[in-house]
Amino acid sequence: MRKVPPQSSIGSGVIPLQFNVHDLGELTTHCIRCGFCLEACPTFTETGSELESPRGRIYLVRSALDGKLDWQDDVRPHLDRCLGCRACETACPSGVKYGAILEMARDRLENERRNISKQALLASTAKPGLLRTQLALSRLLPGRRVPGFVSQLVSGTSPEADLPNPQPLPNYPPLDESTLPPVRGEVYLLEGCAMRVLYPGVHLALRRLLRRVGFVVREAPTQGCCGSIYAHNGDLDEANRLATKLAAALPGDLPVIVDSAGCGSWMKESIFADRAFDASEFLLAEGLANVLNTARFEKTLTYHDACHLAHGQGIRSAPRELLSAIPALKMVELPEADTCCGSAGIYNITQPKMARSLLERKFANIESTDAEIVALGNPGCHAWIAQAAREHGGQVRVMHTLEVLEQALNPA
Ligand code: SF4
Ligand code: SF4
Repeated sequence: MRKVPPQSSIGSGVIPLQFNVHDLGELTTHCIRCGFCLEACPTFTETGSELESPRGRIYLVRSALDGKLDWQDDVRPHLDRCLGCRACETACPSGVKYGAILEMARDRLENERRNISKQALLASTAKPGLLRTQLALSRLLPGRRVPGFVSQLVSGTSPEADLPNPQPLPNYPPLDESTLPPVRGEVYLLEGCAMRVLYPGVHLALRRLLRRVGFVVREAPTQGCCGSIYAHNGDLDEANRLATKLAAALPGDLPVIVDSAGCGSWMKESIFADRAFDASEFLLAEGLANVLNTARFEKTLTYHDACHLAHGQGIRSAPRELLSAIPALKMVELPEADTCCGSAGIYNITQPKMARSLLERKFANIESTDAEIVALGNPGCHAWIAQAAREHGGQVRVMHTLEVLEQALNPA
């Protein structure tokens, strides 16, 4: 696991992004057009169109930079249909930084012409209070889907995504301090936006798991959005502004533990690069697998790789190792485990048809495993795959990896 840097290198006001916007042209030159990424790209495999492939999109960006194509008319529709899943980065033998190319190209598109509906959607998602109010008000409308007028505004078509239901807090018994190791350190926990509103039980599980390996959470009540949703949707200035503001709310050099793959992926590119850790990598490194030897969870489980965990952060084995440490838990590998489910941040609202196709493909793979539970590590995937589970009869339960681990340590 990466070392936590000294405080002096953090919060300097200079955001150590890996790239800056002037690198866009240079980054596109690394693509040698070999096509090894094509079969890894969900939008290419769904459409068969070169323009919906990583290679095609890089070519479009390159051509627009050279003045041969129009950014808005020729490039935007194809970048809008990109999931930002970064499966192409994993597949690329030349190390092309497609995620950075996409973020910078989208930033350029939005700076040239703002998509007001999308900006409003981002703003309402990135503020927990507003998100809560909006969900409550939307429930007054008929149906369980995202309101039709919102879908028409951002996608021009009818919605596919249900409004997510905030999850109730689980009723865990108090931790027995006499059985816990001494406290040996503090960490911050990223509360986030969607996670805080929709999945507070995941944060609770994380706090308990951290304590089980000797860490406690230093409270930081003023923390807000990390900026990831803006970084992934074409507003790098706002993303960096929010990351800088968050750094002020999480002072010092304590590790920041993240249980949302999309947030963690962005934080590792941002001012938090040296001190953001996905919960699974931190807990594994701190010995949770040994604690899980006493757990009980006699279920069959499969694991879905969230794109921003597997492709964005290169984290595949840590969640699997932790889950495999639970005695009697039967793990079944999921076909196409690291193929995007179509949720992709706000993609299932802005591109509902493609998102639906990918969801059905994902759920067919899940059903093929006969697993009772699918575990994952990202709120967008959680809500979207849970919707498919409901629509397909409710036989499969969707859980965050941390919920599985903590539940296994609290057998009924
Ligand atoms: S992005 Fe990588 S894998 Fe895809 S065509 Fe370019 S060099 Fe080849
Ligand atoms: S990020 Fe995903 S959808 Fe976009 S080009 Fe790469 S593989 Fe395809």
